[in-house]
Amino acid sequence: MAQTDVLIVGAGPTGLVLALWLTRQGLKVRIIDSSGGPGETSRAMAVQARTLELYRQLDMADAVIAAGYKTPAMNMWARGKRRARIALIDAGEEISPYPFVLIFPQDRHERLLVERLLALGVAVERRTELRSLEDKGDHVAAVLQHGDGREETFTALYLAGCDGARSTVRRQIGGGFEGGTYKQLFYVADVVANGIDPAGEGHIAFDKSDFVLVLSYGEADQYRLVGTVRGERTEHPENLAFEDVAKDAIDGLQIKVSHVNWFSTYRVHHRVADHFRRGRAFLLGDAAHVHSPAGGQGMNTGILDAINLAWKLAAVVKGRAPDGLLDSYAAERQAFARTLVETTDRLFSFATAGGGFAEFVRTRIAPIFASAAYRSEYLREAMFRIVSQTTLNYEESPLSAGKAGDVKGGDRLPWVRDTDNYQPLPAIGWQVHVYGEARADVRAWCDQHHLPLHMFAWRPAYQKAGLAQDAVYLLRPDTYVALADPHGSVATLNRYFEERRIRLTS
Ligand SMILES: Cc1cc2nc3c(=O)[nH]c(=O)nc-3n(C[C@H](O)[C@H](O)[C@H](O)COP(=O)(O)OP(=O)(O)OC[C@H]3O[C@@H](n4cnc5c(N)ncnc54)[C@H](O)[C@@H]3O)c2cc1C
Repeated sequence: MAQTDVLIVGAGPTGLVLALWLTRQGLKVRIIDSSGGPGETSRAMAVQARTLELYRQLDMADAVIAAGYKTPAMNMWARGKRRARIALIDAGEEISPYPFVLIFPQDRHERLLVERLLALGVAVERRTELRSLEDKGDHVAAVLQHGDGREETFTALYLAGCDGARSTVRRQIGGGFEGGTYKQLFYVADVVANGIDPAGEGHIAFDKSDFVLVLSYGEADQYRLVGTVRGERTEHPENLAFEDVAKDAIDGLQIKVSHVNWFSTYRVHHRVADHFRRGRAFLLGDAAHVHSPAGGQGMNTGILDAINLAWKLAAVVKGRAPDGLLDSYAAERQAFARTLVETTDRLFSFATAGGGFAEFVRTRIAPIFASAAYRSEYLREAMFRIVSQTTLNYEESPLSAGKAGDVKGGDRLPWVRDTDNYQPLPAIGWQVHVYGEARADVRAWCDQHHLPLHMFAWRPAYQKAGLAQDAVYLLRPDTYVALADPHGSVATLNRYFEERRIRLTS
């Protein structure tokens, strides 16, 4: 007998969210971290719309929004001149109930997650480090070391490696972490500054081969700067200070920094692990993929890894699905991580490339594109879709089937503003949506299987969103469409569950 269902190694955002979602679904977890307390630096700033949509499942979206700051707009500068201002507050108003980019620094975010977890009766065990693990076939045995040097062997049905970019779990399960490291040295600095115009907004400025990203915390004169360190200063990063950073772009913005609260440099890697699963061990978050912070995707991707895996672990541990369901975690999330790493790599290489042509494109061509985007609603929306992770889909997954209207199995359910069809989604469980009338046999089938059926009286807005009248949309516990059946038939529903050997009750 294993001592717990899931041992979670690492209590960063990924591990904390996994612990929350597993506990909420009735699994027993133990969550350990080698550090003495939650992170105290701001690091990841943006909480994307898709994360907020899923935070609704644990009634956390409103608390995060209340504690965060909605960036009003992003300004683009090239060589000291402002070229575009893109309003962000309602950039995705037709796409998501959360149509903005929310700034909520990672240290505050982690504290909120720790509190929510405590409220569910689970405390993070600090100064407890995973040293090694062994897959015993029907459980995992992990060797843990406590702060006082004491060693303990602990057993769990499954082990989740949420232990960051230098993951011990990844080393233990073997396999590569292929990719590379950018030659530039990056810095992040939390500063007190003035001169930023408009104040309280986001800015990205390019100058020669240099760039700076400025984000507002929504507090007077408090900003986060991200940029590159001057080439000749990168030999001993540990000795660097804010004075060493590249200043062309900063000067172009006419920022006057009066105080530096926190300054850190880091090398940016772009890598994806070969295996997201090996036997009973999984890799999630930075342990599985790292990439540039351009676009603010890193932490959000880890959180979505955790939510993807949590319902599958819950189904398998409760005996409602075969162990093979867990393979779909790797299939779905590794494919996404690879695409993300490639995209951010292209973006980042573009933002930092040296040479006359790159500089010309960055400071002359890109601003024209940005100002066009600012005028075009379509382009603004397209940018929101990408950054917010609302276009992410699992269409290629073995768990996805069918197509009804424009919506395929594996897609995120389109959100319809008129009626907020996301209202039933906080429930973590399978559910059926029918836009129009459900057939009588479908109603009876849902009743018989205790599967919530949500019917929405047909209206043209559903068609505009790509939904088909009277079709059956079966949703997974993480709210993605599992099956889209235009005929709304019970036979297709039955076949979906039978083929995957998933049961709705234990
Ligand atoms: C300086 C800096 C700036 C950043 N800026 C941004 C940004 O602007 N935008 C963005 O999206 N991302 C940014 N990131 C990245 C972001 O912080 C990560 O993507 C995010 O923290 C990943 O979360 P995680 O939970 O997967 O891993 P982590 O937050 O790294 O958490 C891993 C946890 O595991 C613990 N641990 C490690 N090994 C063990 C072990 N053997 N046993 C027990 N516990 C262990 C660690 O103590 C740690 O608490 C930044 C990172 C840094 C360092």
